[in-house]
Amino acid sequence: MEVRQCAECGSCYCIEKHHVFGGPNRKISEKYGMVEDLCPTCHRGNSKEKKGIHFNKEMTLRYKQKHQRLFEEKYGHEMFMQLIGRNYL
Ligand SMILES: [Zn+2]
Ligand SMILES: [Zn+2]
Repeated sequence: MEVRQCAECGSCYCIEKHHVFGGPNRKISEKYGMVEDLCPTCHRGNSKEKKGIHFNKEMTLRYKQKHQRLFEEKYGHEMFMQLIGRNYL
């Protein structure tokens, strides 16, 4: 059995799936595997501490850049722009 680990801190506890490109692009994220396993702290964290990818702009951008690069290695920049409509690099 594959152990799911938090991409950010390595925790194996209660791993959740984060869609790197959310909102209207959530389905595209799902389809192309632009998702990350994150523990609850690194995912939703805590709004007071601004921890967790949903509260942390730097972390959000870092993962978007990572997945844009990975996507473009496979499918190219044009297709990324067509699907996501914004350049993060
Ligand atoms: Zn974590
Ligand atoms: Zn999420």
